Amino acid sequence: MIIVLKPDHTEEERLQIVQTLRALGLSVHESRGAHRTILGAIGDEDALRDLPLESMPGVERVIPILKPYKLVSREFHPEDSEVAVGSVAFGPGPVQIIAGPCSIEDRQLLLETAQAIREAGATLLRGGAFKPRSSPYAFQGLGEKGLELLAEARELTGLPVVTELMDPRDTVLVAKYADVVQIGARNMQNFRLLKEVGNLDKPVLIKRGMAATITEWLMSAEYVASQGNRRIVLCERGIRTFETATRNTLDVSAVPVLKQHTHLPVIVDPSHAAGRYDLVLPLARAAVAAGADGLMVEVHARPDQALCDGNQSLKPERFERLVREVAAVVRAVGRELGGAP
Ligand code: PEP
Ligand code: MN
Repeated sequence: MIIVLKPDHTEEERLQIVQTLRALGLSVHESRGAHRTILGAIGDEDALRDLPLESMPGVERVIPILKPYKLVSREFHPEDSEVAVGSVAFGPGPVQIIAGPCSIEDRQLLLETAQAIREAGATLLRGGAFKPRSSPYAFQGLGEKGLELLAEARELTGLPVVTELMDPRDTVLVAKYADVVQIGARNMQNFRLLKEVGNLDKPVLIKRGMAATITEWLMSAEYVASQGNRRIVLCERGIRTFETATRNTLDVSAVPVLKQHTHLPVIVDPSHAAGRYDLVLPLARAAVAAGADGLMVEVHARPDQALCDGNQSLKPERFERLVREVAAVVRAVGRELGGAP
């Protein structure tokens, strides 16, 4: 249930409403916008049946939230939310580009790639230390050693870092190094993991499961938000379809659909969607044209030697071109590209 307070409500009126709702066993979440304060009452709404909420002093309107997700819904928070990562922010402001290798493989390669993407205009560095590989015989990532290298690359470039958490047992370790904790497509419905990152004081990037509907994806975000962490960014990365020409099918429509249903920032990963380096640029342009608040692109100093996803990784020169061409689309949609911190 959403309770919209009158613009001139008093602090006592607000407190009275919050206390009444809490006494009925509901949890109350507040959203203060520029013009309105909204209270979201979450829990067993049957408890509200006999409460004349609408006539309580300070209440302007009471609206039921019909969607199964509440805290992440646009009804609850009508304005776009902003998720800050140090001096960079995802949201209605500048379009941010996250770039870097699929996995952290080697110190020299990582530092070289990190410097190149920074010079080209990326504002965050990505790299996996724990990799969700389909084969148990494939490179699984360097684990903590990889995280240390990522921290060194952050030190060198000043770029905040994004890295994946796969297992709740590694939460403390990954959170120690990461500026943004990534939940990968394969773990989008690992509810235990979602609850875990919901208790972190750190932004979380939730990638769309490869066969997940938008509602299921938003329910995953709701899991995180319901634990208290509202610093969530959604990342479309392609879904499984009958098409085999590309690794996945980029669901461009997910971007404007999400913008209708949620206030959370939405970014797009054209690399995992395409699975081919030559399609990354056009998909990146399409994503930004559709309203994406950012991109996540795989870049590798030597893609032919990559231990993971070399086919879809851009060489630094190609990435530089991508940033230039995407910048033109960003301007065309009336936005600007984020500058490196
Ligand atoms: C990744 O970004 O490193 C990754 C594994 O992507 P996804 O979870 O989307 O497959
Ligand atoms: Mn990858």
